[in-house]
Amino acid sequence: ATPTALMVGTGRAAKMGVLIKDGTALEEIENVKTIIFDKTGTITNGQPAVTDIVGNQSQVLQVAASLEASSEHPLAAAILQKAKAESVDYPSATDFQALEGRGVMAKVNGEGAFVGNERLAAESKLPSDLQQKLHTLQAAAKTVVIVGYAGQVIGLIAIQDAPKPSSAAAISALKARGLKTVMLTGDNQRVAEAIAKQVGIDQVIAGVLPNQKAEQVQALQKDGKVAFVGDGINDAPALTTADVGIAMGSGTDIAIESGSIVLVQNDLNGVVRALDISKKTFNRIK
Ligand code: ADP
Ligand code: MG
Repeated sequence: ATPTALMVGTGRAAKMGVLIKDGTALEEIENVKTIIFDKTGTITNGQPAVTDIVGNQSQVLQVAASLEASSEHPLAAAILQKAKAESVDYPSATDFQALEGRGVMAKVNGEGAFVGNERLAAESKLPSDLQQKLHTLQAAAKTVVIVGYAGQVIGLIAIQDAPKPSSAAAISALKARGLKTVMLTGDNQRVAEAIAKQVGIDQVIAGVLPNQKAEQVQALQKDGKVAFVGDGINDAPALTTADVGIAMGSGTDIAIESGSIVLVQNDLNGVVRALDISKKTFNRIK
């Protein structure tokens, strides 16, 4: 494109809340075959809230809140908010450890305790009634964490993070433009599939550890150019690996720095706008 055309395109995009940090991204997005989305905070609101507690509510909340008080994960915020709403007091934990993509461990009242997913809790073998409940909650698009205390699983906490109201329409518009859509998440397969179904995503890659996101992007690049849309600290490598990195304006600083396009309005319609502006900008001078 001529520098003038590029400037006009970039200016038009900015007015629509699409910040183009790098002009080549605007040109490149037109050649993208697949759009990959992070789940939490990108497709969903990123404001998870506790919906169900299985087990003795005050005991489960007390142990979970003790542990999560030292965590910065969005799931931790949801659990602490619930403990506060239910006026549950909790002791402070010691020997805190965060296990990436799995959960947290610490000592509560001197006893070993954990909150996390099946990858973390597998060894504690869930009783079959809890297993059943876990699956039912996951199929309802809820992220479930398992709470363990003193060598036993004491309960489950289900946490819901609803899709943004704009996500489904934006994904359908991208598919109508011939693009393939993929969700890449650290969350459980069942939960990810339930949310993918709600918004019309074509393919789900779940249970991805934070350091594996970039590798998954590379694997998808074998079928053509890809854009990655994300907001988190752990999305930064995927944003720089993708042919076009698109960050949510509400995202972490490192995600915004890693993206070459930033969506000020924090919704996926921005991706559709970026594509359409790219077409207009580059077709005019071809
Ligand atoms: P993503 O941001 O893609 O959802 P993460 O890698 O941050 O993925 O987390 C993946 C999973 O690890 C979560 O869905 C949850 O099951 C578990 N997990 C991570 N951190 C915590 C935490 N502080 N408390 C409970 N579970 C956690
Ligand atoms: Mg996210």
